Amino acid sequence: MPFVYDFDHRHRRPPMEMKDLLGGKGANLAEMTSVLRLPVPHGFTISTDACRAYMRAGWPEGLSREVTRARARLERNMGKRLGDAVDPLLVSVRSGAKFSMPGMMDTVLNLGLNNESVEGLAKQTDDERFAYDSYRRFVSMYGRIVLDIPGEEFDRLLDEAKQRTAAATDADIPVGELRSLVDAYKDVVRRHTGKAFPQDPDDQLRGAIEAVFGSWNGPRAIAYRDHEAISHDLGTAVNVQAMVFGNRDDQSGTGVGFTRDPATGAKGAYGDFLVNAQGEDVVAGIRNTEPLSAIEARFPRIYKELLAVFGRLEHHYRDMCDTEFTIEQGKLWMLQTRVGKRTGRAALRMAVEMTKDPGIRLSRAEAVQRVTAEHLEQVLHPQFAGTGYGVLTKGLGASPGAAVGRVYFTADDAAAAAARGEAVILARSETSPEDVHGMLAAHGILTARGGLVSHAAVVARGWGKPAVVGAEHVRIEGRTFSVGATVVGEGDWISIDGTEGDVVLGQVPLAETKPSDEFDTLLGWADFIRKGRLQVRANADTGADADNARRLGAQGIGLCRTEHMFLAEDRLPIVRRMILAESEAQEEAALEELRVAQRSDFVDILRAMDGLPVTVRLLDPPLHEFLPDVGELAIKEATVGLTAEEQRLYRAAKQWQEFNPMLGTRGVRLGVIKPGLYAMQVRALIEAAVDRVLAGGRPVVEIMIPLTVTRAELALARGWVEDAVATTIAAARRDNGLRPGRKLDVLIGTMIETPRAALRADEIAEVADFFSFGTNDLTQMTFGFSRDDVEGRMMSAYLDKGLLEHNPFETVDPGGVGELVRIGVQRGRATKPTLKIGVCGEHGGEPQSILLFFDAGLDYVSCSPFRVPIARLSAAHAVLGADAAAAPAKKAARSRKAGPARKAGPARKAGPARKAGPARKAVATRKRSPARKATGSRTVSGARKAPGLARKASRATTTPRSIKAARPTKAARRGR
Ligand code: PEP
Ligand code: MG
Repeated sequence: MPFVYDFDHRHRRPPMEMKDLLGGKGANLAEMTSVLRLPVPHGFTISTDACRAYMRAGWPEGLSREVTRARARLERNMGKRLGDAVDPLLVSVRSGAKFSMPGMMDTVLNLGLNNESVEGLAKQTDDERFAYDSYRRFVSMYGRIVLDIPGEEFDRLLDEAKQRTAAATDADIPVGELRSLVDAYKDVVRRHTGKAFPQDPDDQLRGAIEAVFGSWNGPRAIAYRDHEAISHDLGTAVNVQAMVFGNRDDQSGTGVGFTRDPATGAKGAYGDFLVNAQGEDVVAGIRNTEPLSAIEARFPRIYKELLAVFGRLEHHYRDMCDTEFTIEQGKLWMLQTRVGKRTGRAALRMAVEMTKDPGIRLSRAEAVQRVTAEHLEQVLHPQFAGTGYGVLTKGLGASPGAAVGRVYFTADDAAAAAARGEAVILARSETSPEDVHGMLAAHGILTARGGLVSHAAVVARGWGKPAVVGAEHVRIEGRTFSVGATVVGEGDWISIDGTEGDVVLGQVPLAETKPSDEFDTLLGWADFIRKGRLQVRANADTGADADNARRLGAQGIGLCRTEHMFLAEDRLPIVRRMILAESEAQEEAALEELRVAQRSDFVDILRAMDGLPVTVRLLDPPLHEFLPDVGELAIKEATVGLTAEEQRLYRAAKQWQEFNPMLGTRGVRLGVIKPGLYAMQVRALIEAAVDRVLAGGRPVVEIMIPLTVTRAELALARGWVEDAVATTIAAARRDNGLRPGRKLDVLIGTMIETPRAALRADEIAEVADFFSFGTNDLTQMTFGFSRDDVEGRMMSAYLDKGLLEHNPFETVDPGGVGELVRIGVQRGRATKPTLKIGVCGEHGGEPQSILLFFDAGLDYVSCSPFRVPIARLSAAHAVLGADAAAAPAKKAARSRKAGPARKAGPARKAGPARKAGPARKAVATRKRSPARKATGSRTVSGARKAPGLARKASRATTTPRSIKAARPTKAARRGR
């Protein structure tokens, strides 16, 4: 296979499908050149194969020969030669990986200039200033990127030159000074490298290509890939392209254009433009740009041409495209295109509108596939609550959502503050790739300069972080910023609204957003796709949560953790009385009090979920968790002494203390030693169900026994439950007028939370009506990782060192835990083919895990209410992925049926290729994991703290929460 491909190479497949080999930029350049025949400057792409070979064993054999030939073809096409003293060709050398990594790798522009060709350029363009400015830029860029010389060396000389000549901007530096600058830059190179600046274009080209290859493993690029969960093995392609100049004169310019608005999704061209400038000036945000529509007034013909190109691109890619273009002396050149990044709001709007666009005709399934879980998370971002806040200043709303935090002015300071647990807003004049770690750590980003496609805007949008950019009245000086007379210092609180562009002093309260109509439309389509294939339920423990879950589309409750009902302030003393009971009568009295309290909770939940299944889990956690901390009481005893009540609590707490509470008296084991407890819970639940029936409701009750590991355990617990159900219903018929013919739907099942339970699922299924995989505990028990400890202490080290690809508490581990789920499903259904099976661990709301659960044959996933929309979408993605993978096999089966004449047909060939299960395959190939992203940001913010009872009890009242905030905290995962 060759390493080098010209942009007009005739590939056997559409180039845009060859991003693995050509990188995203190279594939799209080839598509624009060879398929769409748009005006693209000639060039060639060095493949990612070459980069991988380079990373393995240095400069690949044969690459020099191929580059030399490609260069000769490029020179022939352009009618110019690199380094030519009369009419030189200049090229750009740019990275371009399979997945876009904006600004994370290196670029060298104006390559081919040397002491002779600069004179040729000056003559040809009749513009000596332009030629020497280009040479100056080239030497400094090459020096920084290829020769590793600190950029400040060049910047300092440039500043001095500006001062000497009283030039206000770079463009005002006179040509004589530019000549001297070039010499001074070359001196810098000699001082640092001990050699003269390379004059031979061959050497220049080789140096630049190696630098781009090398930048794949630069710290910025690695950090970005870690965050985006992009494989480190892919390598980058390198694109060598003839330069065109937007900074030639006032008939020239450069811009970044989108075929639709990437922030709102509105139809129509959108973007930024700068007259007489190079592309980097637009993206760097150094000059404030004009809107794209400004081109119409200056260059009406070109504007028309550009819009026509946009139209063709959109119809060809059937999606919104993002482009870079240059106008050189009145001629339009397309430098790059790709399917554009967009906000969640825009993604929803575009997906829905493109189904109606006759030029695009997206199917509903395609529309659903266009929207990602991250897009949905973004639209559920909080906004400012109310309107009564004073706006300090305004910028451009570059990335939607609101954020509140303390302001920091450097990326390092922002990252350090976030590591201390502070909420941070990073404020910069403009951002560059060096700021990425600070941007990652920040809750929101504010810049004084730059437009909607500036680095800050693009990166923030990509990560779904609220950002306000180009807030022109913000003056940043050192560690303060001022707006008029108002000065804001480091660590002061500010609030930003990345939808409206508002900057506000202090902490504005936040509230959830109301999703758009497109949100409902698209999720409706997702529901249609997954109908009858994978249901979505919610984990909810209160009527309010259940209401919320139903509003968000939950089809029932997959887990009601009844212990949450015991943690409320008024319940805790009763639970303690039950534990401390010294006689049966005392225990019964306490249980009776709890029954009354629980019954009303259950009524609320069953009402909210009327007609839908509600899975109530009997008490699970170790009882000592309801008692005060032994250590604290010991200290109190030794210092101020304990009251009589405290003494009793202290004794009980010590008595119930265990070395390994997570492996101790919890789950069904609790029921075994305190059987009255489960009977009380079942009674409360069935009484609540009867209440609902009598009120005309239709409760659907599922009672779930936690943590069973043997058939015998479940059979015993099932017996208690059946007895309690029967006696409660009999009492209701007798005392409450429940009609004899009136049936109550009650299923009795168990959680599968240990490897043993998964392995012996065949036996356990004999006495279960349903299974629900508790993948939180199953992960803990399969890895032997304490779910309360490992994430704080060692998870980031394991992820950093590559010992784990994902945090298994966030993304289900396919090889171990996932395999146990598959085994449990297979064996359970071997005994009982109709066994209903779901999952209620936190993985039930995580997109990548949902693919696996669908493939394993689960009937439903259950997750926290705020993740329900994401689970609905991901479930549809799982179904679509599986159907797409199964399509060739179905075709093959059809063609087999069609008889021997078609035996050798292609459909038949497609059969054996599909060895792995469809969704399984999808899991394996999926590179980008939103969950992984979440890990990164949480590690940085250090947001997780050990759960305490007070904290746990307050969970239900912490509203509003964003989807992100609602991601599983450790306490939530433990279900306490
Ligand atoms: C689980 O273990 O996955 C589960 C849902 O139960 P909990 O988190 O309450 O232990
Ligand atoms: Mg559990």
